Amino acid sequence: MADLTLDEAKKEVTGLRAELNKWAEAYYSKDAPEVEDNVYDQKYQRLVELEQQFPQLVTPDSITQKVGGQVDSEFTKVDHEIPMLSMGDVFSKKELQEFDDRVQKLVGHPVAYNVELKIDGLSIDLEYTDGKLVRASTRGNGRVGEDVTANARYIADIPQVLPEKITTEVRGECYMGKEAFAKLNAERDEKGEAAFANPRNAAAGSLRQLNAKVTKERNLSTFIYTWVNPPEEITSQHQAISEMARLGFHTNDTGRKLAKMADVFAFIDEYTAKRDTLSYGIDGIVLKVDDLSLQQNMGNTVKVPRWEIAYKFPPEEQETVVHEIKWTVGRTGVVTPTAIMDPVQLAGTTVSHAVLHNADLLKEKDVRIGDTVLLHKAGDIIPEISQVVLAKRPKDSQPYLIPTTCPSCGQKLIHLEGEVALRCVNPSCPAQIEEGITHFASRPAMNIDGLGPKIVRQLITNDLVHNVADLYRLDADDLAKLDHFKEKSINNLLTAIANSKQNSVELLLTGLGIDHVGAKAARLIAQKFKNMTKIMSASVQDVAAIATIGMTIAESLTTYFAQPEVDELIAELARRGVNMNYLGATAEETAEIPDNYFKDKKVVLTGSLAHFTRSEFTKKLQALGAKVTGSVSKKTDYVIYGKDAGSKFAKAQQLGVPVLTEEEAIAQIK
Ligand code: NAD
Repeated sequence: MADLTLDEAKKEVTGLRAELNKWAEAYYSKDAPEVEDNVYDQKYQRLVELEQQFPQLVTPDSITQKVGGQVDSEFTKVDHEIPMLSMGDVFSKKELQEFDDRVQKLVGHPVAYNVELKIDGLSIDLEYTDGKLVRASTRGNGRVGEDVTANARYIADIPQVLPEKITTEVRGECYMGKEAFAKLNAERDEKGEAAFANPRNAAAGSLRQLNAKVTKERNLSTFIYTWVNPPEEITSQHQAISEMARLGFHTNDTGRKLAKMADVFAFIDEYTAKRDTLSYGIDGIVLKVDDLSLQQNMGNTVKVPRWEIAYKFPPEEQETVVHEIKWTVGRTGVVTPTAIMDPVQLAGTTVSHAVLHNADLLKEKDVRIGDTVLLHKAGDIIPEISQVVLAKRPKDSQPYLIPTTCPSCGQKLIHLEGEVALRCVNPSCPAQIEEGITHFASRPAMNIDGLGPKIVRQLITNDLVHNVADLYRLDADDLAKLDHFKEKSINNLLTAIANSKQNSVELLLTGLGIDHVGAKAARLIAQKFKNMTKIMSASVQDVAAIATIGMTIAESLTTYFAQPEVDELIAELARRGVNMNYLGATAEETAEIPDNYFKDKKVVLTGSLAHFTRSEFTKKLQALGAKVTGSVSKKTDYVIYGKDAGSKFAKAQQLGVPVLTEEEAIAQIK
């Protein structure tokens, strides 16, 4: 860097700021990071170094001079009288020692630190008047935050009323525990929604949105660690935490008051090892000068307090050897490479597969069979190859040859214009058909119980189905050809397939697996057009006119229906008795349905009903604004059961979901 001219430095600084601002916007405002934290941190450090070397380049709007984050205009703004600052960070014990040296120099003597875990969430501020929670807000840009009071009322560990009628303000971290995070992503996956990259983004996305009901469902938690205006008798951070715990705040009890850096380092080692066993995510350790009056004297820079620092954990990495690159064909024909490696333990799980996303990325990383690679978890979740360890590359290693033909059907693979992905465009490719039928039968789509990937594969290899319409031709003799299929399993599958004919058309639309058209978009489209004929003849403009549906979905939908073979497929499905109409209430109708026992409730029907057919009963419930679903979960409001109810009834009992007999339900309808 010493060799850089001012002009060169200026150019680099401008580039770094543009890049960091863009990433910060995605991270703070959209809660959807574009890069991993360590990539951001490295570039940020480089900017800090350059600004130190060339102080004339520091501007007040540089990202190093302001607290990250903006205030979304949808929220009521909250002024933070005492700003919510960011925190300096270091990445090694050496730098941490340097921080301690600076502190000692500044105050003139050794100090004790309260050492705490750095919780991976987002800051929250809580204000109480006469012991009652009156306002909750986010950090925002540090001076102005977002009012999230309505949401905070649904975070179970935030006290709404304190045991004493005090007027006070505390701050802490709002986070999503690992279990809640895994559950949320599994549910989103089931609904065809994008998964959150990590618990921090999931927490931010669940708190920084306007529907308090969503926050309620998301299971957020808090750890409170700052008392903004503690009573006089509280003189240390350590004491503040115990006193806040006594007042009913959820505090983290792992914090320790430590006077020697050797003990601080031991704490770091201890939690580096324990990190994966905690039920919440941490991304480092925070050191805070324990004495509150010293904190006051030391003060803040424009962006961070001088009395605290974060030690950030390095991203966990492991070396392993790649012994195969496997290509799989998805339902839309996209061919994806996955590296198969010797299994290694990484951040709490055994990892042997890492998706390489596409051929370009594989080429760019130059991963070869036999290579030793460094593996980490992107966003602490998804295993990813960060780089090849070139020093360990075998001498006779050959560049990996990207396949030119489909691993399933052998047809030539192509690069569609504007796409990085390689695709197999053969509509009869068995792998695509298998993925397509499995998707069709899956829960967010036609929900055909018992028709998973293994059975679909057998149906295809036995030449029994070639497309989704063929499912509706299957009979008992066909199914008897499958492994382990006896009378009961044959009947169950035939019943499940027959039941799916009654589904409302949005499930069929989801099941067709049209690019970009997930369950949510399918529902909105079905609500608007009401039946398949109208959906098929809708123009791009008609579809894009639906609120929250953009051009990508609209174009994909209309392009799909412009294919003549799709016309044939839909006609065949209709001939086989598959329902082509929207059976639910439209958005406007739902709003107009008068309040009743079943309005907005999730209901499951099970067993054989005596008074109506299942589809008649489903229609009745839907007309009352109920959502009739196929499987029981904690979110189900009622299970209505008839004769011989089996596993769904048992699951409802186990989860404590209320059950109604058919007659009891009818009594509520009348
Ligand atoms: P920070 O998140 O690194 O540290 C400050 C925050 O730590 C506080 O606001 C508080 O919310 C939290 N915290 C957790 N436990 C705490 C404890 N025990 N005591 C006090 N505070 C505690 O700083 P920041 O300015 O909010 O964000 C900068 C970081 O965010 C970067 O280092 C980077 O890792 C990440 N970031 C990533 C991207 C990306 O694109 N991936 C973009 C922007 C920022």
